[in-house]
Amino acid sequence: MADGCTVLLTFDFDAEALWEGAYGITTPSTLSRGAYGANLGMPRLLALLARYGIAATFFVPGITAERYPDLVRRAHGAGHEIGHHGYLHVSPTTQTEDEERAALERGLEVLERITGERPRGYRSPSWDLSPHSLRLLADHDFLYDSSLMAWDAPYLVRVDEGPRDLVEVPISWELDDAPYFLFAFRPAYRVGLADPERVFRIWRAEFDAAYAEEGTVCYTMHPQIIGRHHRLALLEQLIRHVRQYPAARFARAVDVARAYRAGVEGGAR
Ligand SMILES: [Zn+2]
Repeated sequence: MADGCTVLLTFDFDAEALWEGAYGITTPSTLSRGAYGANLGMPRLLALLARYGIAATFFVPGITAERYPDLVRRAHGAGHEIGHHGYLHVSPTTQTEDEERAALERGLEVLERITGERPRGYRSPSWDLSPHSLRLLADHDFLYDSSLMAWDAPYLVRVDEGPRDLVEVPISWELDDAPYFLFAFRPAYRVGLADPERVFRIWRAEFDAAYAEEGTVCYTMHPQIIGRHHRLALLEQLIRHVRQYPAARFARAVDVARAYRAGVEGGAR
């Protein structure tokens, strides 16, 4: 993106589906961690974003949208983008092509029914794609994917070495809240529980460098993780830091992808 620095706040609103779909854990206490993201994480995030007038992107698994349609509608109604995040939050790398297509179509149907708008962006539940994913996304008229990590700013990914391509809005584990904060015993021990000040320093340094080069920085958070008070304070600190810079702007992933696509077609790149 030309003209200043672009900051994307993206949220993977997984709720229970993170634990069920990705890890196969369905015990009550574990599932209740996911529910926290819906009960408190989402309302707190929506209030914080409204306070600063920021439009963000929420990637939502179909089953989570079915469980919490009012929250998804509220986010959509507030001007946030709702992106596709699988149906059961199962990794496409573990699915057959038919299973992956079915999950994609079911998620599309649910999100479109609830918001009245067809999602244009997809983020894999496992942040990884199968050999079929990009083709399935192109077949279903997606504008962009957000699961790959080859760049800071948007770039194009070819579909099956053919003529079609998709915009990629890249992510990174360093700019995701889960590796720093997510504590768990199962399915594997995760230390998590990082000091938010440390994470703020890392995220601020990424923004400062992106600002200096008029680049793009994309953060990912999970309502059930960032929604705790001491971590929300980190997000607010980051927002306030970005706001000090006049040439920095917050944007939704879909708007960044559209602008990038328009630039490519206009021969700007
Ligand atoms: Zn997720």
